[in-house]
Amino acid sequence: MRRIYLDHAATTPVDPRVVEVMLPFLREKFGNPGSVHAWGQEAREAVDRAREIVAGAIGAHPSEIVFTSGATEADNLAVIGTALAAEERGRHIIVSAIEHHAVLEPCEFLTSRGFEITGVPVDGDGLVDPDQVRRVIRDDTVLVSVMAANNEIGTIEPVAEIGQIARGRGVTFHTDATQALGQMPLDVDALNVHLLAMSGHKVYGPKGIGALYVRKGTRVARWLHGGAQERNRRAGTENVPAIAGFGRAVELAREMMPQEAPRQAALRDRFIAGILEIEASRLNGHPSRRLPNNVNVSFEGTDSESLLLALDLAGVAASSGSTCTSGSLEPSHVLTAIGLPPETAAGTVRLTLGRGITEADIDEVIGLLREIVASVRAASPTWKPSARARR
Ligand SMILES: *Cc1c(COP(=O)(O)O)cnc(C)c1O
Repeated sequence: MRRIYLDHAATTPVDPRVVEVMLPFLREKFGNPGSVHAWGQEAREAVDRAREIVAGAIGAHPSEIVFTSGATEADNLAVIGTALAAEERGRHIIVSAIEHHAVLEPCEFLTSRGFEITGVPVDGDGLVDPDQVRRVIRDDTVLVSVMAANNEIGTIEPVAEIGQIARGRGVTFHTDATQALGQMPLDVDALNVHLLAMSGHKVYGPKGIGALYVRKGTRVARWLHGGAQERNRRAGTENVPAIAGFGRAVELAREMMPQEAPRQAALRDRFIAGILEIEASRLNGHPSRRLPNNVNVSFEGTDSESLLLALDLAGVAASSGSTCTSGSLEPSHVLTAIGLPPETAAGTVRLTLGRGITEADIDEVIGLLREIVASVRAASPTWKPSARARR
């Protein structure tokens, strides 16, 4: 059976060219970058090189890159680190309603420490209105966090505009760019961000590595203690193989983006058009301000679990929204935030394309979905074929 992987928002395969640059650091080049001898210097050079590449990809200076264990840690460091550094000044944080849990849960944690969190709603397409952010900023606001692109519905947020508003008020602005990296150009100056989170395994690099961009002069308290690594911002011996791999992955993503992004966007649009021919289906997320690889659709009268199981049996990997909420029966906070009724949200699947996906794959999955949706509906006691698609 031919298997088709359509869950690239959850994780991507490691590019063989990335594996290639990692292997020496798992073998003979095992030095600790903190050591003064030749082994140490060899490792240090690899870390420095990767730092230059990652910084260059987002228009940053290498000294502004802090390597972390992934985007979860980068988001936690951004939110909690900013809060700890600023708590004397204020204890108010603004986040969008559709942030990843890696941003939302640190915020929740901070409420137990006397911080107040304001959630900014999104419209039906998942867009944050910069004016809403302007209205809720206060004198005691210390952080605004709005993601660059949403991991479930693919909507690309007006980060530059929001950043300008935050900056104008002297408030630190963080963006989780985990899904955007490698799929759209990112420039920290154009985006007006102080902090930006990234992850290796979403860009064909290894898992367990990521980075936080910290604009020069931005105060972020450290909370991993016990070493002076990462300019005293994140203690612990550097994960040299993963850092080298992350650097190579970012370099490749940058090279491939001019061809890959439009190629995947065209496949995405073909995919969406084909799926929307199925009756009572709807596209979630913005129709055009959307990641080139993201398709998120709901089918009335179905449930995600049955759809995903049937797709998996047919060799197709998809997801019910975010990987972190799969397995739970609650509708995701993102689908709720865009106003989907629970019974519509219940029948939602996310299909995310990647470098290996072809037009033939897309056409095959459209046909499969047509059959699977029909059979799930045939088994549903409540499905009425007269229901009309809303979009
Ligand atoms: C995957 C993801 C994360 C978590 O990244 P890890 O590197 O797996 O910790 C955070 N934010 C977004 C938007 C993501 O898609």
